[in-house]
Amino acid sequence: MKITAINIYQIDLPLKEGRYSWADGKFVEVFDCTVVEIETNEGISGYGEVCPLGPFYLPAYGPGVRTGVAELAPYLIDADPTKTGNINLIMDTALLGHPYVKSGIDMACWDLLGKQTNLPVCDLLGGRHGGSVALYRAISQEAPDIMANKIAGYRDQGYTKFQLKVGGDPDDDIARIHRTRKILDRGEILVADANTGWLMHEAARVVDGIAKLDVYIEQPCKSYEESLTIRRRTARPFILDENIDGLQALLRAYGDGAMDLINLKISKVGGLTKARQIRDLCVSLGIAMTIEDSWGGDIITAAIAHLAHSTPKRFRFSSTDFNSYVTAQTATGAPIGENGQMAAGEVPGLGIVPDFASLGTPVACYSKRH
Ligand code: MG
Repeated sequence: MKITAINIYQIDLPLKEGRYSWADGKFVEVFDCTVVEIETNEGISGYGEVCPLGPFYLPAYGPGVRTGVAELAPYLIDADPTKTGNINLIMDTALLGHPYVKSGIDMACWDLLGKQTNLPVCDLLGGRHGGSVALYRAISQEAPDIMANKIAGYRDQGYTKFQLKVGGDPDDDIARIHRTRKILDRGEILVADANTGWLMHEAARVVDGIAKLDVYIEQPCKSYEESLTIRRRTARPFILDENIDGLQALLRAYGDGAMDLINLKISKVGGLTKARQIRDLCVSLGIAMTIEDSWGGDIITAAIAHLAHSTPKRFRFSSTDFNSYVTAQTATGAPIGENGQMAAGEVPGLGIVPDFASLGTPVACYSKRH
């Protein structure tokens, strides 16, 4: 199989709740999402998606995806998309870094490999574990009572895992965590995700202020070194996210005993190929994971479901159905979260069909120059 063309679509994904707010007063109301279409000489096409959480969450931004794909496309035309190792080597040789740019291309290649082999991507990633994948619900940063009310509402829909957006004023955050934990039962999971928002003295106050509560602490401070100092002064289970941006960061953190869990985001590490490598290593090392992406629509939700569903159950702490947060559709056939669970599709590839009525015409098309 050979790549004959790469087409790029841009679509805005507005939030159902209007606004998603997290640390340092950051918020997004409409996500800038890119859909990658890879056409082949065998008449089948593969699809991927990249959707940064605004330009200030990770070193990634919406237009950057499209600029980066323009840079990579000439190197990929005529390559075999089903050879995902070769594709990644081509991309990493042609463009250093910028993992998020490569994620949609890599995802589309896995979609093509599944279509060629007649297997769902989760089978190609190791095989399905269990009937469904448990979802968490992210709770945008607001006043403690509003956050508690939102948790109560999502709980009624079947969610049992909640990720509070904290990383604000330490006193407010202590109140947010106490208020929300109070309404949860045994077995329900609460994560306080600071998204790098606290300085060390602020994080130290918060972890002391919630020291007796059943709550996980996620990514308290900006740097790995700052977060490690907080890890060493709290007994709460500890998650690293933003700092774990690849295999080397994971190995270093594992060696330091810097976390109990990681948050594995597909685009943060450069696509499904690299996410699978990190996932498999985490399983061998005994590290459970939240398996997800920065943000996304239907295609990313499908990719998350395939990666999560092919992960042994004990190691998947939670995942996200991003398509349930937004009002626009990028594809049909994606998993639909129900009762706090979703499942990877059983049809070949990612199991999605792009919604071209919603995507419109491509903003860029790259093919062989004649
Ligand atoms: Mg996080």
